[in-house]
Amino acid sequence: MIHTLPDTFEAAPDCLQGKNILVTGAGDGIGRAAALTYARHGATVVLLGKTVEKLEAVYDEIEASGGPQPAIYPLHLNGAVFKDYEDLRDTLEKEFGALHGLLHNASVLGERKAIGQTSVDSWNEVMQVNVNAQFMLTRSLLPIMDIPDTASVIFTSSSVGRTGRAYWGAYAVSKFATEGLVQVLADELANTSNIRVNSLNPGATNTAMRRAAYPGESPDTNPMPEEIMPLYLYLMSDASREQTGLQWNAQNT
Ligand code: NAP
Repeated sequence: MIHTLPDTFEAAPDCLQGKNILVTGAGDGIGRAAALTYARHGATVVLLGKTVEKLEAVYDEIEASGGPQPAIYPLHLNGAVFKDYEDLRDTLEKEFGALHGLLHNASVLGERKAIGQTSVDSWNEVMQVNVNAQFMLTRSLLPIMDIPDTASVIFTSSSVGRTGRAYWGAYAVSKFATEGLVQVLADELANTSNIRVNSLNPGATNTAMRRAAYPGESPDTNPMPEEIMPLYLYLMSDASREQTGLQWNAQNT
C-alpha cells in the first residue's frame, strides 16, 4: 500500500527546531530543496555531497535567511569506504551529540540501457552510490540516531523501484534494493529503537536527473522540488513518529 501526506498535516514553522538532520546530495535538485526547507523549519542541517561549491551555495542561502548555522561535509559516495562513514559519525557526535534525521537523497541514474547492454562499470557505480553507500552511512549513523527519543531515516525510492520497467537498468534495481533495505531495517528497529524508517518516492520532479532521463520532455511539465516538500517535512517531523516501514508518494499522480 502506498501512503501520501495526511490531509490534516500542516508544518508548524518551528516543527524541526532543535533537530540535527543530515541530507545527502544536498547541493542540487530535491536534496537542495529539502536542506533549505528543513533549515527554514528550525533544523541544523548537515549538507553532504560531492560538489563543494554547490554545498557552499546552499550553506550561504541558509545563513542569509537566518536559519541555524548548517555544516558542510563533502563526500564522494562512489569512492567512500566504511572508515569514511565512521569518521563522519565521529565528527557528528563530537559536534552535535546526536542525529535526529537522515535523508538518503543522493543517487545516480547510470546508463539507461537494456540489461544486456549495460556496462559493468556503470552497474557497479550505481550500486555503490545508490545502495552500498546508503547501507554504510546508515550502519555508521544508527548509534547516534538512537540517542534522541525519536529519529527518522528517509530513503528515496522511485516508481521504477516499485514496478520494474525496461531500460531503467541498474537504477531501477538499486531502488528495489532500497525498498528492501527499508523493509528489513524498519522491521529490525520497530521494537528495539525509536528510529523510524520509510521509503519516499518523490515522483517526476524538475531536476537535472529528470531532465537527463527525459531529454524530450518539457521541464515545466513537472513540479519544482520546492513543491513536493510537504511530505519531506511530515516524515522528518514528530508528526510521523508512529510511521515506519511504509512506502510514501510525494505526489498523487
Ligand atoms: P539530481 O538533481 O541529479 O541531484 C542528485 C544529487 O546527488 C546532487 O546533489 C549530486 O551532487 C548528488 N550526488 C550524485 N552522486 C553523488 C556522489 N557520488 N556522491 C555524493 N553526492 C552525489 O537528482 P534529483 O532529481 O534531485 O534526485 C534526488 C533523489 O530523488 C534521487 O534519489 C533520485 O533517484 C530520486 N528521484 C527523483 C525523481 C525526479 O523526477 N527528479 C523521480 C524519482 C526519484 P552533485 O550535484 O554534486 O553532482
